[in-house]
Amino acid sequence: MSNFDGLIKSLDPERVKLDEPLSTHTTLKIGGPADLFYEAHNSGELIKAVRLARSFEVPVTIIGGGSNILVSDKGVRGLVVKNCGGEMEVREKNIFGFKKHRNIAIDPRWVGSKMGTMRYDFSDLDYDESEYPDVEVAIDSGVNLQVAMFHLFDQEITGLQWYSRIPGTVGGAVFNNIHGGRHVFSEIVKYVVLLTKPGDVIKIPAKSMRFEYDSSRLHQSGEIVLEVVLSLRKGDVEKARSVAGEWRKRKSSQPFYSAGCVFKNISEKDREILGYPTTATGYIVEHILNMTGYKVGGAMISPDHHNFIVNTGGAKARDYLAIRDEIVKRAKETIGLALEDEIRYLGEFEDR
Ligand SMILES: Cc1cc2nc3c(=O)[nH]c(=O)nc-3n(C[C@H](O)[C@H](O)[C@H](O)COP(=O)(O)OP(=O)(O)OC[C@H]3O[C@@H](n4cnc5c(N)ncnc54)[C@H](O)[C@@H]3O)c2cc1C
Repeated sequence: MSNFDGLIKSLDPERVKLDEPLSTHTTLKIGGPADLFYEAHNSGELIKAVRLARSFEVPVTIIGGGSNILVSDKGVRGLVVKNCGGEMEVREKNIFGFKKHRNIAIDPRWVGSKMGTMRYDFSDLDYDESEYPDVEVAIDSGVNLQVAMFHLFDQEITGLQWYSRIPGTVGGAVFNNIHGGRHVFSEIVKYVVLLTKPGDVIKIPAKSMRFEYDSSRLHQSGEIVLEVVLSLRKGDVEKARSVAGEWRKRKSSQPFYSAGCVFKNISEKDREILGYPTTATGYIVEHILNMTGYKVGGAMISPDHHNFIVNTGGAKARDYLAIRDEIVKRAKETIGLALEDEIRYLGEFEDR
């Protein structure tokens, strides 16, 4: 019996799919097949799938909502586990606590203007919730972030409104320390429960996660997020709902058939040196590199947000990459800037 056969038999022959097209599991709708594909509906199933794959020496890759990945046209070898489901638990309501909120100062991503990429501005929606009581909430990593936000609003718990309309799972949000306006996810993370490479389950405090802008230790460690414990607020839920609604409205021009921003925004230091009005990379693509409408095959730089490459229909990963590589080349040649990827690459790519 081959390793694949052994794994399928041990995991669940009814639920393991062969040669599953990953294009159907990514927001970009791009990606070749996974040799084996399994949907984990809770942390227990996620642990089991990963441990079994490792015991059969089958490479294993985790995806959540597939909203920040470019999957190669050749697909992904081994087992792909889609982490999609789980539970949430409100563990503690500290109604007398008035803890100070940790303030992480990050630059606004966009500044107000009527021109293209510069029109995104969320600063007027921002407010401080630090005077409201803490609430500790544990959420399985496969839970969809938007579902979690609405579910918590129903329980009068706030703090996720800044991440309104960001697709994907709570695990994906931790992996990349997502940002919403001036906020980063790590502000509200208290503990993370991880499955280590040797297969142990550990619970670590947020400070050990090495959270940075669009990054965490998970980018290097190969650990898998099972659960996250968030420090949220018994806040003003009507205000939070209305802010979440307004964010959704303003972000509705961000095209969904994409993988989000292709590149990280530039640093404040680079912005100052270059004399640009914003750190938004979309501004550079639109106003400096003049690449509006640039297209290869079915992929195109979105005219609605120039740091997004969209699938206009039938795009391949190689089309997306050709555009990405052209932007990198022109940015280097024109302004001497090395742009950094925000998206993650999964599968067989020749030079990545
Ligand atoms: C329209 C649109 C708007 C977006 N807006 C924003 C935004 O405003 N701010 C922002 O920061 N991002 C944004 N994104 C990017 C994306 O939604 C986030 O990065 C999201 O958190 C990714 O989660 P996911 O579950 O889809 O992860 P996936 O795309 O499935 O995976 C991304 C990476 O995380 C890893 N991963 C996923 N789950 C786990 C886990 N449980 N344990 C370990 N590793 C894991 C995967 O292996 C992969 O390397 C946007 C994307 C789109 C399409």
